[in-house]
Amino acid sequence: MTSSKLLEGQTAIVTGASRGIGKAIALSLSEVGAEVVVNYAQSPQKAEEVVSQIREKGGKAYAIQANIADEASVNTLISQVLEKSKSIDVLVNNAGITKDGLLMRMKTEDWQTVINLNLNGVFFCTRAVSRQMLKQKKGRIINITSVVGLMGNAGQANYAASKSGVIGLTRSAAKEFASRGITVNAVAPGFISTDMTKDLESESILKAIPLGHFGTPENIAGTVRFLASEPASAYITGQVIQVDGGMVMS
Ligand code: NAP
Repeated sequence: MTSSKLLEGQTAIVTGASRGIGKAIALSLSEVGAEVVVNYAQSPQKAEEVVSQIREKGGKAYAIQANIADEASVNTLISQVLEKSKSIDVLVNNAGITKDGLLMRMKTEDWQTVINLNLNGVFFCTRAVSRQMLKQKKGRIINITSVVGLMGNAGQANYAASKSGVIGLTRSAAKEFASRGITVNAVAPGFISTDMTKDLESESILKAIPLGHFGTPENIAGTVRFLASEPASAYITGQVIQVDGGMVMS
């Protein structure tokens, strides 16, 4: 097998793959042969465009709508994948949102909406695929957290808590699944140019980034592809890899 088709015959689910980082991850995994499940919540047209882009390049993909914040919707998504594909080899928990506000004035609803998708959604998806991956004795789970989950951020208590939670979940799942051939890792992006950050680029933020510019979705996709690749990353589990232009160094 050529190195360009490392994931040939494998199925990868990418949550929130209609735009931004998830889209770049879907395109990148398909380039190395994975059949990609392009999950979306509200943008069917954008998700179908991602599928078309993948197919135009000779790759395999299909789109499935599911609200990742909803347990029943996630379980239906995983059942639908297993009807179409014989295995689930890679799960990328990417779907995420922000609802910023100072803690003192933060609405309970904004707290819960962010936790429900960014943290509970990662739990729902991980639990739902774990049965299949345990059966296969093989799997890669890659969670998109954030440097905000490592350092906190004023105005993002809900988002920071959700992303710190994902790191705890990643390490616990890595320990539970290690003996069964399943690795679980997290990628912590800094500022990446997507819809989520389109109004944020300012001189003060750029000054805090040693490399001096926002990252691209492809920068994150490259790291995810590495973490999905056999044997390159087979001995890495329970880790958080920062892709942040040097913003947070510890
Ligand atoms: P984005 O451009 O806003 O895209 C968000 C994606 O999530 C879309 O595909 C959206 O689908 C999907 N989504 C939203 N709600 C969903 C739900 N309930 N169920 C399923 N899918 C849902 O965001 P992004 O910047 O690419 O961020 C992707 C991930 O990276 C997030 O977890 C984010 O927290 C993390 N991250 C981003 C940055 C950054 O600087 N951009 C930094 C650190 C971490 P629809 O189009 O259908 O709504």
